[in-house]
Amino acid sequence: MVLTSPLPLEAATPAHICPFDQACSYLDAAGKELKLDQGVLAILSNPRKVVTVSIPVKLDNGEIQVLAGHRVQHSDILGPYKGGIRYHPAVTLREVSALAMLMTWKCALLGIPYGGAKGGIAINPKTYSVGELERISRRYISELIKDIGPSVDIPAPDMGTSAREMAWMMDTYSVNVGHAVPGVVTGKPLSIGGSLGREMATGRGVMIIVREALATQGKSLAGVRVVIQGFGNVGGAAAELLHKEGAKILAVSTGSGGIYSPDGLDIPALKAYAAENHKSIAGFPQTTPISNADLLTLDCDVLIPAALENQITTENVHQIQAQIVAEAANGPVTLEANQFLETHGVTVLPDILANAGGVVVSYLEWVQGLSYLFWDEERVNHEMEKLMVQAYHQVIQQSKIRQIPLRLAAYTLGVGRVAQALADRGLYP
Ligand code: GLU
Repeated sequence: MVLTSPLPLEAATPAHICPFDQACSYLDAAGKELKLDQGVLAILSNPRKVVTVSIPVKLDNGEIQVLAGHRVQHSDILGPYKGGIRYHPAVTLREVSALAMLMTWKCALLGIPYGGAKGGIAINPKTYSVGELERISRRYISELIKDIGPSVDIPAPDMGTSAREMAWMMDTYSVNVGHAVPGVVTGKPLSIGGSLGREMATGRGVMIIVREALATQGKSLAGVRVVIQGFGNVGGAAAELLHKEGAKILAVSTGSGGIYSPDGLDIPALKAYAAENHKSIAGFPQTTPISNADLLTLDCDVLIPAALENQITTENVHQIQAQIVAEAANGPVTLEANQFLETHGVTVLPDILANAGGVVVSYLEWVQGLSYLFWDEERVNHEMEKLMVQAYHQVIQQSKIRQIPLRLAAYTLGVGRVAQALADRGLYP
């Protein structure tokens, strides 16, 4: 661990799953493999800027609540900071810092000219009214007004946020600077410069990477047995697209549990069912209820954790039956569990590759906005697929050349590109 000037972070969760330490461990491993200078590694271990703002909000009942909002800007060596804003009760400054670092490597790996950042507020958005959420989002972004901008730091949706929050944030920023600035956020509604294909983008990227990984093994998606933890923005889209390509989706879940059918779920019917039942999938006909924990250990070919971090740990990794694990969530497999899977011949498709479809289409949205020229969905999907497939093959090649697992291969590519840019830019002063 080369964090020479420790961040003022709050108390850690149990040490073995501290997300920031875990992110630094992966960086250290990449640094060793690339024989990076310790000083360079120390620069890359520390976020460039950490901002925590106080968000006072008047609730509908008249009470005032004060929330803490974070934005961690890890690196802008390759371009403007880029990354989502998360509304989730488990948000901590440590987690946001880890996720910001992940964004830096993800953008570098995909070859898009961005640095990495992440934001978050520790709330359960389901417990707030739409009006309260709007006030929280607007106050949060207005507190960050000097730290963001279309060539400075460009937020996007993440867990618990969507196009709706991005529209509020774009409007707040625009009103404050005095003119419309659509490029300040991505993942916006189409009406204000969003991109076609953005909503499904992360799930589509997952489907593409799983398809490529199967192709490497001489297999196709047709008939392959897939289990997905999650059925939200990412898991739901991945399920739909994989199902369309002929995969058999055996189980999916939401925060309150999952459903399982050994014959495969009818995903379009399930989507319609969930839409009618306030996003609940429980009770979908001809399925058995299954817990989120049991779902992970089902007999399947491909396991896609598309929910929270630290789902596959030393506690359950021995029971994982899948031959491919695709990290649709950020950090769903812990460091030790990852090592176990890799040494037991399981292909782990790392988050910075598997879930990069979202930020890739964010980039395409930003490019379209800056050029005032909008593409049809086919073009967006095509451009995204090109970048995803290219990155996948670069990771495979790196893994072969260096004889290292895919995660380390992905990290060496991402970290290596940032380190090269740092060397070329030099150190100021
Ligand atoms: N939140 C997404 C991620 O973790 C997307 C970020 C973005 O589009 O900037 O990759």
